[in-house]
Amino acid sequence: MFNALIIRKDDQQPKPQQQVALEQVDEQQLPEGNVTVQVGWTTMNYKDALAITGASPVVRSFPMVPGIDFAGTVVESSDPAYQKGDQVVLNGWGVGEKHWGGMAELARVPGEWLVPLQAPFTQKQAMGIGTAGYTAMLCVLALEKQGITPDSGPVLVTGAAGGVGSVAVALLAKLGYQVTAMTGREQEADFLRSLGAAEIISRDGYSQPGRPLNKERWAAAIDVAGGQVLANVCAEMRYRGVVAACGLAAGMDFPATVAPFILRGVTLVGVDSVMAPYADRLQAWQRLAQDLDITALEKVMQEVPLEQVQELAPQLLAGQIRGRLVIPVAD
Ligand code: NDP
Repeated sequence: MFNALIIRKDDQQPKPQQQVALEQVDEQQLPEGNVTVQVGWTTMNYKDALAITGASPVVRSFPMVPGIDFAGTVVESSDPAYQKGDQVVLNGWGVGEKHWGGMAELARVPGEWLVPLQAPFTQKQAMGIGTAGYTAMLCVLALEKQGITPDSGPVLVTGAAGGVGSVAVALLAKLGYQVTAMTGREQEADFLRSLGAAEIISRDGYSQPGRPLNKERWAAAIDVAGGQVLANVCAEMRYRGVVAACGLAAGMDFPATVAPFILRGVTLVGVDSVMAPYADRLQAWQRLAQDLDITALEKVMQEVPLEQVQELAPQLLAGQIRGRLVIPVAD
């Protein structure tokens, strides 16, 4: 038997109700997979908070163990790539949505979903970085693939005080880029400077409809906002600038014109972390291990017990949580 946070849904009419509770679960109930992992640490992402509160239909089958990412130690494996005792990390693949996730002492997954934990990270640090940080690295890699270097010019990061944004700022600064951090939270300016941001700008002015083209400012951008913010960022890109778009914090829509693309040769690259192939995941985690200075991020890691995630989920959705919530599970 092992401890797991379980989300159940009843058939109550007219509106089915969702219940979330810590339960003792029989190992036989674990889903299919050829590697069983003792989960050391997990984290609470925005998507996990949606799943736990039921605020959005993230969970596709019930009962479900939430937790879209985890770091742990292999306890059983019939995959030749992994032996008992190996330390591993998992991000995405629908875990915590349609396959039991990281908020349980044990997880069972197909071996090809895992990536070896990269030294020098501990399991706790890997979860402090989490899916947000791994996505930030995928965005940096996407810019590099398009030929962007620190000599290209200033880089803008939107939602800079959030999970993806803060790691993107830290990574780009360490790599020698001149980083401008866009935030809606002025009080986070010191934190953003501590991560290496050279300039902080306010999100005000980017959230309203703007002109198809504006003064050229950015050689590259990492955008977590989407919506009107992304449209305005595209309008400010320099000639042949590159935007890596990974989020929808400002909205799912994209009320832009083609002007930046056909008149300035701007490239918009989409970044998805959930189904990214193994080679890209491994490269992202290797580059995080090489290029991320984790000290500033460690200051904003908040350790919370599994028992508290239900209480914290609505606060996370309301933007009231600062930093990264890391959860010890069976460490
Ligand atoms: P967080 O909640 O940690 O951060 C999001 C940040 O976006 C906030 O901190 C805020 O930045 C900013 N923001 C909030 N509301 C708005 C708004 N209305 N307009 C503009 N900016 C806003 O989330 P994450 O960093 O973990 O995720 C960011 C986005 O990326 C989400 O949409 C998430 O779904 C997506 N995502 C996508 C992935 C993929 O695979 N493509 C993987 C992971 C995340 P500030 O505090 O600086 O004001």
